[in-house]
Amino acid sequence: MKLADTGLTQQDIRDLVNTYMIETYERYDFVAERAEGMYLYDPDGNAYLDFYGGIAVNNAGNVNPKVVAAIRDQVGDIMHTFNYPYTIPQALLAKKVCDAIGMEKIFFQNSGTEANEAAIKLARKYGTDHYNSKKYTIISASNSFHGRTFGSMAATGQPGTANQNGYGGMTPGFVYAQFNDLDDFASKVDDTTIAIMLEPVQGEGGVHPATQEFLQGIRALCDSKGLLLILDEVQTGWGRTGSLMAYQQFAIRPDIVTMAKGLGGGVPIGAMCTTRRIAASFTPGTHGSTFGGSPLCTAAALAEVGEIMDRDLPGNARRMGAYLMEGARTLPHIREVRGMGLLVGFEFDSSVNALDVKHEALRRGLLTTAIGTSIIRVIPPLIVTSFHIDEALSILRDAILVTCGELASAHA
Ligand SMILES: *Cc1c(COP(=O)(O)O)cnc(C)c1O
Repeated sequence: MKLADTGLTQQDIRDLVNTYMIETYERYDFVAERAEGMYLYDPDGNAYLDFYGGIAVNNAGNVNPKVVAAIRDQVGDIMHTFNYPYTIPQALLAKKVCDAIGMEKIFFQNSGTEANEAAIKLARKYGTDHYNSKKYTIISASNSFHGRTFGSMAATGQPGTANQNGYGGMTPGFVYAQFNDLDDFASKVDDTTIAIMLEPVQGEGGVHPATQEFLQGIRALCDSKGLLLILDEVQTGWGRTGSLMAYQQFAIRPDIVTMAKGLGGGVPIGAMCTTRRIAASFTPGTHGSTFGGSPLCTAAALAEVGEIMDRDLPGNARRMGAYLMEGARTLPHIREVRGMGLLVGFEFDSSVNALDVKHEALRRGLLTTAIGTSIIRVIPPLIVTSFHIDEALSILRDAILVTCGELASAHA
């Protein structure tokens, strides 16, 4: 939809949203009317350089032509039919994903939190099937993020935050251990433990990558205790960190992996992959989803995954991620730059407020995200080039200096 066709103004759009929507989002003050590649455009034609990629979703670029063509083709054939008939794009995507990442079975959902619900349910069901009905505890990491529904929310290791406060208590069966602390995880294992659930890089928690020793140690711990390793690759998956799945760079394989954000190129889709043996605990009637794996969304994802693989976007993420991190270390007031591939966090010293930097960068045409008040996270589409990175770092440099009062905004 174009604003010009509605007879409304940008302010009208903001007013409608503010009046009628339940607002749990801190809005960016512009109307996004159109997008292409590395840019979003407002109705006046102002361009915004996209370094948040719809929150790590638009991996093959905004409005990727191959994804658009796949959706256009599919939408006229069949959009939705529920999972009783076999459908063609679903079959092709299932094989493509499993083959690409070394997994055997897939279950389709509509989002990251749902993919994690499927993983949690499958692990618990597996515990009941193979051990006993008391074996369902999952150990996850402090400061993790796994989603906003009750199971994923309980797996999220953020007690006492707005994510969890005020909801009448969390789903039982979750305990937290310190991320990157193998001994702490080992000490939390008991007779009720069935799985360990982790992000290879904690995204929402401030961009903290797991160490090699930690993830490999967790794999060995799971093997020795008969536990399932669940990796949440909702944010890290589909090329973001420099390989299709981040775990490929840790030389391990999880028992269950979840994905969503980067899988569909912008359509809502999530998935959980596992082995044939573990998958056997889900049988007809034990789990399901009305929309999960619809022809429309799987056709889009098939095109997106094709683009990511055919154009070696993980390779570009690796190269451009290194270039971005090197450049970011020269920004003023930087305390630490960390990340993996194109999931990068810039942590500032206490003289900088990351929220102010985010808003100032937006005024200068750059989209980023802030985590708390000290971290800027950048998660651009994986088609980003050094030209875009130079531009983004230059805008960020000015935004940092302006918000610290070290550069007059008129000079911009
Ligand atoms: C975004 C995210 C989720 C939740 O995904 P939704 O699609 O928003 O439900 C879960 N886990 C991780 C690691 C995420 O980054």
